[in-house]
Amino acid sequence: MKPRSNCVGIIGHDHCGSTALCRLLATVPGLSVGGELHWLIDVPPSVDSVPMRAGWHVSRWCAVHGDSCDALGKEFTSQLRDSASLYEVARGRLGGGVLISSDKYPSFFERHARAGQMLGIVLFKHPYRAIASDVITNRRTFEDSMSLWSSDYSKILGWAPRYCQDVFWLRYESFAREPRSVLDDLCDFIGVERTTGPAILATDYHFIGGNAPARSRADIAIDEKWKGFLTPEMQRTIDDNEGVRKVLESLESRCRDG
Ligand SMILES: [Zn+2]
Repeated sequence: MKPRSNCVGIIGHDHCGSTALCRLLATVPGLSVGGELHWLIDVPPSVDSVPMRAGWHVSRWCAVHGDSCDALGKEFTSQLRDSASLYEVARGRLGGGVLISSDKYPSFFERHARAGQMLGIVLFKHPYRAIASDVITNRRTFEDSMSLWSSDYSKILGWAPRYCQDVFWLRYESFAREPRSVLDDLCDFIGVERTTGPAILATDYHFIGGNAPARSRADIAIDEKWKGFLTPEMQRTIDDNEGVRKVLESLESRCRDG
């Protein structure tokens, strides 16, 4: 079986579930998962890490193995300068399989992946979950978070089919509920052999960036913290927001399970 591309980008908003999806894909032979690879270039060479909004730091080397990681450790990342070949160089370091990058935002893929060649997985959570996580973690206002969710995905709806060779539209909730069947579909989409046995999250894998709880969680959780956070009025505001509703309908209509 020949893969359809040597690069797959996970595209979406903050907190779309990309770290869990990467850990699921990291169990598939022939896939080389690296996480948010743009940080290899975007953490300035003079520092080891940059602070993030929610009080954590993103480090310039592998978050799982630390600075001594044999693939994306200090020795390698301190020499990286060339943005144009970042994905290709990282792919070699990660074993030479199909590279999985969870850089998420179109601007990063435009810098590091060639138009028309990358396969895209557009990953999204129900807006209740996405907006609640964003407000809690990034300390944005509810209104800002709601408009950011719809503007980001509105852009992705237009961009992904233009930029990618092909797109797989994926609801986080589908993959959390039925990881085995979603993983089979993703293997078919990428063009690698399906795995057998239960779908599990890798514990030994390489990862740049991502959020710490998602990197170590034991199973694929459907996050329910929105229930204690969004009041019924806020839920109605989201339901009634025309931008959010249209974008969600468009995303859902593109998913294989409708
Ligand atoms: Zn590592």
